[in-house]
Amino acid sequence: MLSSNLVCTFAVYAVGGLCYAGILPWFALSCVLALLFSRWAFSIHSRTHFKGHYPLIEELMPLVMSPLSVGLNEQRQVHQRHHAALGSPNDPDWLFYSANPFTAVLLCCFHPEITFCREFKWLSPRALSGAVFRLVLFTVLLLVAGNNFLLWYLCPLRILFGIAQFIFTWMLHHRHDKRTIDLHLSPCFMPIIGTVGLKELRAHAAHHRVCH
Ligand SMILES: [Zn+2]
Ligand SMILES: [Zn+2]
Repeated sequence: MLSSNLVCTFAVYAVGGLCYAGILPWFALSCVLALLFSRWAFSIHSRTHFKGHYPLIEELMPLVMSPLSVGLNEQRQVHQRHHAALGSPNDPDWLFYSANPFTAVLLCCFHPEITFCREFKWLSPRALSGAVFRLVLFTVLLLVAGNNFLLWYLCPLRILFGIAQFIFTWMLHHRHDKRTIDLHLSPCFMPIIGTVGLKELRAHAAHHRVCH
């Protein structure tokens, strides 16, 4: 069965294809991104806790986030380091949750690129080929859809990264005294976060306890 990561990815590309064909207006692409982004982000989080091998297509993580992004295997390593070094400068997410809220939002908008640049020197040849694959995919989408790709896909994606990473990283982890907290979001967030995501957010402190 396809993971939610791939289902969300294919849904975004399917809507993008329909916009390109003129069947849907381009803003439908931004709407589907906004609706699916949090679910996609939570599915990536769950997948980073998966112990087996990812299918190749998922390992390549083909939801294009930027010209520079790491794959799922590298995300798993980064997230394991987050669990191991929570609340210290050795935590790869430290940069995002130790800053003041304004700086944190700005940094969160560029989460994929910052992660890529920081991890670049450790990337294996296989991880590098995955990064090249995503770069090629990015270039193809840019060449094919042009300004529509920038306006309806890339700009909303930046904003979504800023909002989602700020909520999931800064708001959950910035309280140094408690290290991590549970975030009690109202059920009205369910349509965009999904049941699983809402549960995970509400029990984030427990999630850290279990993983230690
Ligand atoms: Zn985790
Ligand atoms: Zn955490």
